[in-house]
Amino acid sequence: MKESDSKHVPDLSVVAPVYNESQCLLILQERLAKALEGLDYEVVLVDDGSTDVSRKLIAEFARQDRRWRGVFLARNFGHQAAITAGLDEASGRAVIIMDADLQDRPEDIPRLLEKAHEGFDIVYARRASRRGNPFKRACYWFFYRLLAGVADVDIPVDAGDFTYLNHKALQALRSFPERNRFVRGLRAWAGFKQTGVDLRRDKRAAGKRKYTFGKLLGLAADAVFSFSWAPLRLVSAMGALSVLVSIVYLVVVLYLRFTGAIGLELRGWTTIIFLIIAFGGLTLLALGIIGEYIGRIYDEVKQRPVYIIADTTDGDKSDSQESA
Ligand code: UDP
Ligand code: MG
Repeated sequence: MKESDSKHVPDLSVVAPVYNESQCLLILQERLAKALEGLDYEVVLVDDGSTDVSRKLIAEFARQDRRWRGVFLARNFGHQAAITAGLDEASGRAVIIMDADLQDRPEDIPRLLEKAHEGFDIVYARRASRRGNPFKRACYWFFYRLLAGVADVDIPVDAGDFTYLNHKALQALRSFPERNRFVRGLRAWAGFKQTGVDLRRDKRAAGKRKYTFGKLLGLAADAVFSFSWAPLRLVSAMGALSVLVSIVYLVVVLYLRFTGAIGLELRGWTTIIFLIIAFGGLTLLALGIIGEYIGRIYDEVKQRPVYIIADTTDGDKSDSQESA
C-alpha cells in the first residue's frame, strides 16, 4: 500500500489483472482512458506472470502516462490473487476492479460510479446477459444457484468481479488474511451497503480465455468450501441416512427370519457386494470432502503470501522514492 507516501492520492484506482492479454491491452488503454476522462484516477495493471509481451506494453503505458502503473507478479498466481495484489497496491481512495479483456466494458464505469454517488459502498455488476456456449452458460447458472443455496452469506446471483469499492469496503477487503480467495464471496461477506447494476458482458476483445475448465472448477470449489459447511453437513447426512437404512434393514430381516419367510441358507451375495462397493464409495467421498477442508486448513496455516511482486513501474518515475 502506497498511502504512507506524500504522493497524490487519486479519487479512483482501476485495477485489472492481466495474464497474456497483449492483444487486448492497447484497446484497453484507449477505451479505459476515454471512459475515465475528467476523473482523478490511476490504473493499476497487475501482470499475473504473463509470458507474452504484456509486461512490455504495461511498462510502456506507465512511461507514457504516469497515472498508469504496472505491478508484475513473480509468476502466474491466478486471477483472484492478481486482483488481491491490485487491491493492495492501489493508492486511490476507491477502487474499480475489472477484467483486462474488455468483457467488463470501461464505458460502464460511470454507471457504477453513479450508484456510488447515491451512497452505496459496494456496487457490483450483475451479468444481464451472458454470451458463450449453452453448456458453459448452464454451468454458470447452476453454480451461482448452488452457491446461493449453500453459502453462509448472501452471495448475489450472477454478480461478477466487475465492482466499485469505496474506501471503507476496500480497507475491509484488504483486511482478509485468507489464502483461498474468492473475491466475490469476500465482498459479499464484508457487508456494507451493496447494490448491483445490470450490465452487459461483452465477448473478450481478443485472445483466448485464460480460465480453463479446471481452473473454473477450482474457483467453484474455493467458493463452496470457503463459504459453506454444506459439504460437511452432507457427509453427516449421508452417515445418518446409512445408519437409518441399516436399522430398517435389520428389523426387516429379523422379522422375516423369525416368521420363517427366509431360511438359514446363505443368500444375498449380490446384496453384500453392492453394499461393500456403495459404502466403500461413500466412505471415500466423505474422506475426500473432509480432506478438501483439511487441505485448505493446511494452506491457511502455512501463511504463505497470496502473491509475490517481482517488480513495479513505480520506480521508473523520476520523483518516486519507492522502488519495487
Ligand atoms: N487472468 C489472470 N490470471 C489468470 C487467469 C486470468 O490474471 O491466471 C485475468 C485475465 O487476463 C483476464 C481476467 O483474469 O483479465 C479474466 O480471465 P478470462 O477472461 O480468461 O476469464 P473469463 O472472463 O473467461 O471467465
Ligand atoms: Mg474474460
